[in-house]
Amino acid sequence: MSNPPPSNLFYQTRLRRPVLARGEGVYLWDSAGRRYLDGSSGAMVSNIGHSNPAVLAAMRRQMDLSTFGYRLHFENEPAEALATRIAQRMPEGLDRVFFVSGGSEAVESCLKLARQYKLARGEGQRWKVISRFPSYHGSTLGALAVTGMSLMSAPFAPMLREMPKIPAPTCYLDRDGLSHEARGLRYARLLREEILAQGPETVLAFIMEPVGGASTGALVAPDSYYSEIRAICDEFGILLISDEVMSGAGRTGRYLAGEHWGLRPDIVALSKGFGAGYVPLGAMVADRLIAETVIDAGGFVHGHTYAGNPLACAAGLAVLDEIDRLDLIAAAARQGAALKGRLEGLMACYPFIGDVRGKGLLLAFELVADRETMEPLPTGLNAHLRLVDIAYEAGLIIYSRRTRGGRIGDHFLVCPPLIVSDSEIDEIMEKLDRALALFAAEAGL
Ligand code: PLP
Repeated sequence: MSNPPPSNLFYQTRLRRPVLARGEGVYLWDSAGRRYLDGSSGAMVSNIGHSNPAVLAAMRRQMDLSTFGYRLHFENEPAEALATRIAQRMPEGLDRVFFVSGGSEAVESCLKLARQYKLARGEGQRWKVISRFPSYHGSTLGALAVTGMSLMSAPFAPMLREMPKIPAPTCYLDRDGLSHEARGLRYARLLREEILAQGPETVLAFIMEPVGGASTGALVAPDSYYSEIRAICDEFGILLISDEVMSGAGRTGRYLAGEHWGLRPDIVALSKGFGAGYVPLGAMVADRLIAETVIDAGGFVHGHTYAGNPLACAAGLAVLDEIDRLDLIAAAARQGAALKGRLEGLMACYPFIGDVRGKGLLLAFELVADRETMEPLPTGLNAHLRLVDIAYEAGLIIYSRRTRGGRIGDHFLVCPPLIVSDSEIDEIMEKLDRALALFAAEAGL
């Protein structure tokens, strides 16, 4: 079988890709036996690599015991153990874990808990959640309302309660003579202005990705940004929701990306790296006081059937065990620094690479027409599609986006599993170099 069946609605015409046969470590094989280096961990998911034997063994053990028990009928040990384990690594006081099955569900849970908390405190007039543009927080309608990607939300405009957005801190595009840190403060203060414009008494929360994901291409703000955002939220009694769906579980070289700046959010959304591609798994982690206020006021009005099922949680526990056993958070920092240096090195050969950014193994590069002005490449080149296709042909998977309507152009995430070795980094670079040369020749750059 060379193509997915047409009855599979997930199948998109443009992505006429081969059929996946198997995976091992950083590699995937298609049904024709071709090997691909998974240079984006899927969608920044497969942090511990494919077919990890310890995780598969833990899943098999759990499958022999039970795979499902409805949460209103049973507690289950893997869920209890995983909640404790996640809470132990969170900032002080953030220790109430609510399981879901993915990133969008985690974000929905954060929004709903924030709202119920403010309701319980008699602040029912607060409902607006400010977010950033561009940003990605998920595809369900609530998460989409805070997502800053117009192409994704436009078809649903009449059904969405679109939330206010402030610009993401794209400091690297600014040519204003300010220092990097001064720019960080300027972007953070846009939140203050937006809160005042909206009416502080109506604002419930601010949600952001501490290190950006696909929408911005691993955008990192100046250090000054993070503490200023926290201070502004505190000033107006607004909850800070940190979307660590992509950046959590060690990908940036810390357990949570926010730890790089000592960020203390009120609620955190987690997913990708916790299930690591073995199971659909996500979690909301909330400040104890927030969660208990909601429980005391009658309980959290929210939930999904598959949430906290024993199989997903047993796999999640085994993933966290492997992250510790293989010291993968330190590896993300070490290999991330090496890979980032190598990507920066490509800038000498390819003047159309405008920026290399990110933390740990959440890394991206952006292609531009002019490095000085950071003018994006012409849309007609379709660089975000073409370079990915050329790399794919060379056996390297990378992840790309072009943020239309924003200032960020074609960007490419290079985010291999945290187990990536030195020689595998060599292979990524050799294939990427070849793909960039072919792309440059084709595009006349
Ligand atoms: N939040 C962030 C930061 C993400 O990167 C994603 C997915 O890419 C989501 C939320 C949504 O997660 P999911 O696709 O699992 O619903």
